[in-house]
Amino acid sequence: MPELPEVETVVRELRPRLVGRRIAAVTVSSLALRRHWSDEWGPRLVGRRVRAVGRRGKWILVALDRQLHLVIHLGMTGQLTVVPGGQPLAGHTHVVLDLDRGGDQLRFRDVRRFGSATLFEARGQLEEFFRQTGLGPEPFDVDAGYWAGRLAATSRCLKALLLDQRVVAGVGNIYADESLYEARLHPARPARNTGPADAGRLRRALVAVLRRAIAKRGSSIRDYVGGSGRRGAYQREFRVYGRPGQPCPRCRGPIARIRLAGRSTHFCPQCQRL
Ligand code: ZN
Repeated sequence: MPELPEVETVVRELRPRLVGRRIAAVTVSSLALRRHWSDEWGPRLVGRRVRAVGRRGKWILVALDRQLHLVIHLGMTGQLTVVPGGQPLAGHTHVVLDLDRGGDQLRFRDVRRFGSATLFEARGQLEEFFRQTGLGPEPFDVDAGYWAGRLAATSRCLKALLLDQRVVAGVGNIYADESLYEARLHPARPARNTGPADAGRLRRALVAVLRRAIAKRGSSIRDYVGGSGRRGAYQREFRVYGRPGQPCPRCRGPIARIRLAGRSTHFCPQCQRL
């Protein structure tokens, strides 16, 4: 599932391809996405110009003129790309926006259809949406006081805490496991038993791992591609994720895999002691 580095890569690659361009036509497939696409949205989008492309957590925000915001979640297998209009349409393409100047198209493709594309028609609607989801701060904005408070307030384990979008936005299974390894903390450790030094190390490890992954344009382990259609390369840098039984890069002991917080969890039992 695309996490913060993958979504950030999509945003960075879409921005130069979308900003300033106008939507000339909208085509939507008959298959339902996770959230319903209203028939009224296509006509409202036609003629609108893209002002900005941004990200909040795992959400992609395309801001258009007249206060319109197209908000896209990639779900598990979503791909949001700008491609030449002449390129054959791949199966499972749900939304196609024709762009003015040059005949490119913005295409949203999603094999599993856990993703969504939603049009918000006022700035207030968008703010209300994020308020209702209770989305926590971006990892890069988390300060030490907030982090210590959130850890102290829960008996849940560190893995579950990192996956909770209300605590910190954008982290999923891959970067939770990689950050805990980087910080040398056992994923099953109760969050409130984590002292200030360990908590600080985890916060810095999370930011460092996410920045490295963004620099490599995210991880392509299944369908994920950036906004240009190119795959990411961070999957080659994984220390623990998806490597059960393989040697730990630090101690050469075998990486373990357990089930934690309902998710498959990878760690080094030697380097990350409980
Ligand atoms: Zn190790």
